[in-house]
Amino acid sequence: MMKNRLSSTCLFALLLLGLSTLDVAPVAAQADVEESTIDVRPRAGEGIWSLLRRSGVEPSAESVAEFKALNAGKLRNGSELRRDVTYRVPSKARVVALFGNDYQNVPLKSDLLKGHVYYIVGGHGGPDPGTLGTYNGKTIPEDEIAYDTALRLARELMMVGATVHVIVQDKNDGIRDEKYLPVDRDEVYLGGKKIVLNQAQRLRTRTEVINKLYDQHRKTALSQQVISLHVDSYGHAIEPQVDVHFIVGSRSGASLAQTIRSTVEAKYDYYQPDRGYNGAIKMRNLMILRETKPTAILIELGNIRHRGDQHRLLKPTNRQTLAEWIKEGLVREVTGKEI
Ligand SMILES: [Zn+2]
Repeated sequence: MMKNRLSSTCLFALLLLGLSTLDVAPVAAQADVEESTIDVRPRAGEGIWSLLRRSGVEPSAESVAEFKALNAGKLRNGSELRRDVTYRVPSKARVVALFGNDYQNVPLKSDLLKGHVYYIVGGHGGPDPGTLGTYNGKTIPEDEIAYDTALRLARELMMVGATVHVIVQDKNDGIRDEKYLPVDRDEVYLGGKKIVLNQAQRLRTRTEVINKLYDQHRKTALSQQVISLHVDSYGHAIEPQVDVHFIVGSRSGASLAQTIRSTVEAKYDYYQPDRGYNGAIKMRNLMILRETKPTAILIELGNIRHRGDQHRLLKPTNRQTLAEWIKEGLVREVTGKEI
């Protein structure tokens, strides 16, 4: 009894620590959005329009003029960006260091999901890289692909006003526009709690972290949902294509999965009409689905050992697209709106 009380006190202290320490749990500490300027460095070959758009500012004659006025003297020939200069961009954005240098500015584009709370989990992490695949002689770990997609999803949700908790965090891996994401083992849970190798203990900790936050949000949240992302090896390598599958443990999970599934299906029908989509929704009695208080679903983004899926998931733009589709499904689930 005493032991229980102690460990939950510790957890609470860790959570508090996480909530107030910006570099450990920046997403949990969502400051109010302010109209201000943010600092942005141009990418190679980037122009003002692209820089503005990437920073969440709609490029227009006015916003470009405002940008030029703010950065007088820093532009080459009055309109060209210099790579080695940091520019000020007028923005309605919050800064989330967890998303990394190129993506840390998170513009608020709408309040569609205001009041809705999401727990985004990149599967595995810490000492457990998940399932490993091999591509052109390189090891590709499940947890890094899942984590990169999870961060992209978290950022997309924040941009439409959601409250987002990123449950697995790696403070030196932001959103990465890279093909190969090397294995590392320094991911921790939100709040800094260590991810241990023992699976039962690990899932218990994850469940505790989520349930604690759920209780804090319960009175004010319009909805609370857990989205856990994986890239396992559930089928075998000779399937012609592998799809985005869903694993659920409850009726509310099945309904949520159904909405996201039909969104993904509609996207494939539109963008790749000859492809067809066979994503399945499977019922499974998993601890993460059963014992977390919010509605929880697990999404299999693909098969890490399948050649076609490796192609698909190694491309950063595809991870981004998947994150956006899942976000659209989540918006439809709670608002009934298409965006
Ligand atoms: Zn997995």
